Amino acid sequence: MQRLRDLSIRFKVLGLIAMSSFLSLTLAGAAMIVYDLVVFKRTSVDELTVQAQVLGAISSAALIFNDPKAATEYLATLRSRPSIVCAAIYAADGKVFASYQRSDGSGCALPPAQADGNDMLGDDLLLFKGISHNRERVGSIFVRQTLGRTERALGYTGIVAIVLLGALVLGVLVSTAMQRAITKPLLGIAEVARGVTERRDFSLRAVKESNDEVGLMTEAFNQMLAQIERSAAELGRANAQLQVEIGEHRQAREEVVALNATLEQRVAQRTQALELANKELESFSYSVSHDLRTPLRAIEGFSSVLMRDHADRLDERGREHLQRVRAATQRMGRLIDDLLNLARTMRVEVRRRDVKLSDMASSVAKEIGDAHPDRAVHFDIAPNLNADADPQLVRIVLDNLLGNAAKFSSKRNDARVEFGCALQNGERVYYVRDNGVGFDMAYANKLFGAFQRLHSTKEFEGTGIGLANAQRIVARHGGRIWAEGRPGLGATFFFTLPT
Ligand code: ADP
Repeated sequence: MQRLRDLSIRFKVLGLIAMSSFLSLTLAGAAMIVYDLVVFKRTSVDELTVQAQVLGAISSAALIFNDPKAATEYLATLRSRPSIVCAAIYAADGKVFASYQRSDGSGCALPPAQADGNDMLGDDLLLFKGISHNRERVGSIFVRQTLGRTERALGYTGIVAIVLLGALVLGVLVSTAMQRAITKPLLGIAEVARGVTERRDFSLRAVKESNDEVGLMTEAFNQMLAQIERSAAELGRANAQLQVEIGEHRQAREEVVALNATLEQRVAQRTQALELANKELESFSYSVSHDLRTPLRAIEGFSSVLMRDHADRLDERGREHLQRVRAATQRMGRLIDDLLNLARTMRVEVRRRDVKLSDMASSVAKEIGDAHPDRAVHFDIAPNLNADADPQLVRIVLDNLLGNAAKFSSKRNDARVEFGCALQNGERVYYVRDNGVGFDMAYANKLFGAFQRLHSTKEFEGTGIGLANAQRIVARHGGRIWAEGRPGLGATFFFTLPT
């Protein structure tokens, strides 16, 4: 079945035509032969009957006058018809009166007399016919004739076979012509399809040669090709665009990489320069602060000598001025100390270890209480807080934050300072909270800059270095420090010390 399907259309068309013409011609031929044989037999019966009647009529006198010789002569006239094998005339009593046998010796046995009728024995037709005279039956005649139907059928079969052959040849010729009409456009489509796949040329089109199904197929195929051509063109355009974009992207990336490289180089250079400048600045401020101390000490020393030994020579205003000089000198001394501390913070190495922060905060609180026995600040310190940090540096942070908290809540009688720790997004955040004067959040960023103060010295003593120092220390531990506050409602300072 599969093999049949795989045959080319040409062979299928050929097979179809051959098969149909063979079948129809065979059927027609067979019907014709059968019909001819039937008609032939009937005609033969009729002819033989007439012949027997004629022979019977002329032999009736011989029968009446008992002249078998004459009857035999009449029968001998049958010689002119070689198909008659044998014949006989029977007397009324059924005895053979005269007989005839074909001269070639292939005679036959004569049957006993029978009633009128005919019968077939093989290919031979047997006919009995009564002989009458004046309506009286005087005898009967028998004739046996070979019909030769097999030869006749074979002859016809030969003719049918020749016609069949002719029809087949004609069929092949017709089918070849037809097959060309069917397969040529199909082959054309196949050729175009091959061209399209091999050369990727979507502009090729198959030629439409007819308006039949193949023509419709050619049309559909061409439409499909046109669609593919449009899609391919669009794809090509998109591809080209993509190539351009990829090119631009690559170029941009290369530029970014190049820029990054120079940027990193520049950042490294700048960092190096900045570190150098920082170091120079720090050593400069350190040496300046250091150098300033000597003349400051002299001013302080001489002004205290002046106050002690020569105060009586000065009037009230003079003593007041001298007092101011001394206060300014002391303030400057503290400023220099703070600056030196700040510089030191950046120089010392961070040595981390486990620090008991709660104990440290309690000790700072006690020192603050001792320094201001006149004040009653309530310290609320969370127990068992610890951190992995440099104890000396962390102590400076706590000194500053707790000191500020106490300082900026000094205007209150119920001053409260709280030190604790909370978890924020899984991170430990330490805080120092007070209920002091607070500050405006708009300036929250400025707090940590050196010499930045939100309150005047008249209100609260200070140099503006403490928080800057605390920030540097926290940063050196890899942490952050920030503040929240509201004027009149206190402030909270937060810091982290990641390990
Ligand atoms: P100082 O305390 O010597 O002025 P700091 O650097 O410690 O310097 O603080 C900077 C400024 O931050 C302070 O002058 C003050 O205006 C503000 N500040 C610090 N701590 C607090 C606080 N607990 N409450 C309100 N303001 C504060």
